[in-house]
Amino acid sequence: MSKSSKKVYLDYAATTPVDKEVMEAMLPFFCINYGNASSLHSFGQKSKEVVESSRTVIAKGLNMENREIIFTSGATESNNLTIKGIFNALSRHPNFSTKKLHFITSKIEHPCILDSMKYLEKTFKDLVEVTYLDVDEEGLVDLKDLERVIQKNTVLVSIMFVNNEIGTTEPIKKIGQLIKTIKNQRFKSHNKYPLYFHSDATQAPSYYKLDTKDLNLDLITINAHKIYGPKGVGVLGVKKNTIIEETSHGGGHEFKKRSGTLNVPGIVGLGKAFELAEKQRKENVKKVRQLQDYFINKIKSQIKDVGLNGSTKHRTPNNINFSFEGTEGESVLLMLDQEGIAVSTGSACSSNSLEPSHVLLAIGKTHLQAHSSIRFTLGKFSTKKQLDYTVDKLKSIIEKLRKISKGVKF
Ligand SMILES: *Cc1c(COP(=O)(O)O)cnc(C)c1O
Repeated sequence: MSKSSKKVYLDYAATTPVDKEVMEAMLPFFCINYGNASSLHSFGQKSKEVVESSRTVIAKGLNMENREIIFTSGATESNNLTIKGIFNALSRHPNFSTKKLHFITSKIEHPCILDSMKYLEKTFKDLVEVTYLDVDEEGLVDLKDLERVIQKNTVLVSIMFVNNEIGTTEPIKKIGQLIKTIKNQRFKSHNKYPLYFHSDATQAPSYYKLDTKDLNLDLITINAHKIYGPKGVGVLGVKKNTIIEETSHGGGHEFKKRSGTLNVPGIVGLGKAFELAEKQRKENVKKVRQLQDYFINKIKSQIKDVGLNGSTKHRTPNNINFSFEGTEGESVLLMLDQEGIAVSTGSACSSNSLEPSHVLLAIGKTHLQAHSSIRFTLGKFSTKKQLDYTVDKLKSIIEKLRKISKGVKF
């Protein structure tokens, strides 16, 4: 429990508060217009109507067709559906059963990508192989590395848009261009293996325009709760003609790609949240980027022996990840919480394990550096005053912890 009455939330990459406008849009769909969107009566038809409006908003924003938008329960499901859905469809496809299917991803993806890949590797050893690309010290995937590992039987390249721990923004447009070139070569050489490009863009919509045609993306993942919408709802955008099979079988919802009764209030909330993200992007980028610069400079000038993890140039506006030499991230987190400040060590999903962050290790940090890292993530409700208060508390906490650990060699 926090001893401070002050509340400063700096964990927007874990989840965001729901925007009031989003909540208001959702409310009628719990107790008034509660019909099942598959029902033929007017209750159902009203639900169907609002689901389709959300679909239109998202399709437009992603530059896709309405029938290419699949509503899911969130980014985890969308990413699982991408990997397992493509594997299931292609591994049983008569054209592609002669060779193993080859998948490529990076070492710094979200666990739902990495663990889905590992699951396939382990369960279907004879049918699939996966390459996990290294990243450089800023967390960037190298295009030459990628080009080198793409084989004739590579069917999926999945690279995240923005890393959730260190905020590195990957060169998605360049990767898309490379993949387009290889697709054309395959077409000319009569190689029939499809090559799909997927990006987990969950951390991106508030700060980056996601035009799938411009980026040459075949599949894209987003969710609502990282963009001021509700938890438990997301999207997988899937270009038509992508060979993919549903993994959740049942009533054939969502163009037979994802069965299950639609989460109508959630989908309405996601549509509204996405609409606001589009509308407010320019203003958000400017505001949050300024706060980021301010916070980074202030920490560097007020606290000694700190290191910014990730990239300076290729960084999403809302992420700040520092290692504080000679401290332990969990202790810093708990002591900040005592002051009413919410931050994160590594990612929320892995923070209940004692393993150091796979992302920080992949960019070459030592175990000690990784364990001393804190992620601060900002959002549209963050203020300069909150950041001043945070640096103030942080400075004395770091000093206190360093005194305690003095004598211990870091
Ligand atoms: C939060 C997050 C996820 C998981 O999203 P859920 O909707 O909570 O399942 C996946 N990928 C990235 C990059 C994320 O930040």
